[in-house]
Amino acid sequence: MCRVSEEFAGTKVQRGFIVDAHEDIAYNVSLGRDFKRAALETRVLEDPPIPKRGTATLGLPDLLKTNVRIVFATIWAAPCGVEDIEIGPCYRTPEEALVLAKRQLGYYNELAQDPRVRLIRQRSDVDRVLEAPEPTLGLVILMEGADPIITAEQTHEWFEAGVRIVGPAWQRTRYSGGTKAPGPLTEAGRELMREMERTGMILDVSHQAEASFHEALDLFHGNVMASHANSRTYVPTDRQLSDEMISALIARNAVIGTVLYNAFLQANWKETGKVKQKVTIRDVLKHIKHVCELAGDSTHAGLGSDLDGGFGAESIPAEMDTVADLPKIGDALTAAGFSEQDVHNVMGQNWVRFLKRSLPP
Ligand SMILES: [Zn+2]
Repeated sequence: MCRVSEEFAGTKVQRGFIVDAHEDIAYNVSLGRDFKRAALETRVLEDPPIPKRGTATLGLPDLLKTNVRIVFATIWAAPCGVEDIEIGPCYRTPEEALVLAKRQLGYYNELAQDPRVRLIRQRSDVDRVLEAPEPTLGLVILMEGADPIITAEQTHEWFEAGVRIVGPAWQRTRYSGGTKAPGPLTEAGRELMREMERTGMILDVSHQAEASFHEALDLFHGNVMASHANSRTYVPTDRQLSDEMISALIARNAVIGTVLYNAFLQANWKETGKVKQKVTIRDVLKHIKHVCELAGDSTHAGLGSDLDGGFGAESIPAEMDTVADLPKIGDALTAAGFSEQDVHNVMGQNWVRFLKRSLPP
């Protein structure tokens, strides 16, 4: 249970591994960042920080030293004409989206040549990463926004190439209504759901508009998750999940990743100006606890930090500076009375169990 236990033991739990279900690694590489550098080194080189990206919080050395063992690494092609993100390569046509996506997939394949990195394609890869004697980072490839899939029939080609999770939406895509773009699945989106199920692709509902979310859950009978989405109870925008949506996901045995972006943690948080409210790890805990409360236990909440996903160190909880501070969330859960098992569930074990039932054998 996710209930607060009677007494707080006062000792830190043995830290297990961490799983982070959302990091836009390859997109940042496309902006010129070197993922193999530690975040603090990147900061020296990006001074001042890249506009609209913020101060770097991620790097392979940081993940390895923090025992982040698995990351869901995104292929995210940016649509052109979105003001907040107009800083790097973007697409205007599906063909252009395809080129950007292939480049990002190519980057992950290249990265996996590094002995410290491994692509996770099947269930046995999960244990191989977790049991590796040297710190090893496993990457599960997640396509965020399905526009690079030119037609639904190509889904299996992406699967063969190593993609295991697809989120049809970002904002609106050719397949789905998305964030700030209400609407159902398109006819192509319905076909995509059928193809994804046939292929064994996992569905990531993050960013899906409410209508397309419900339609997708009805049409798609495979494994479902939300890599990075918080609760509307605390941040009432269409980007977050309503209680009804969270409950529908729990009924499908999904895991929901909590995003560490301040604007998604606290309503009305402002990134600029003097009215900045302090967001802390307490706010992170509120979102995690909310999922636990709706589920009745701790087996559906996880992390999906989205660190460096269009925001930097300026826009994450006050106690955190880089990804190396993720264990502070585990400590805070312990201090809030979560049992050792509950903390391990949230910090990584839920995602591991999810992968072990959702990836191909
Ligand atoms: Zn996103």
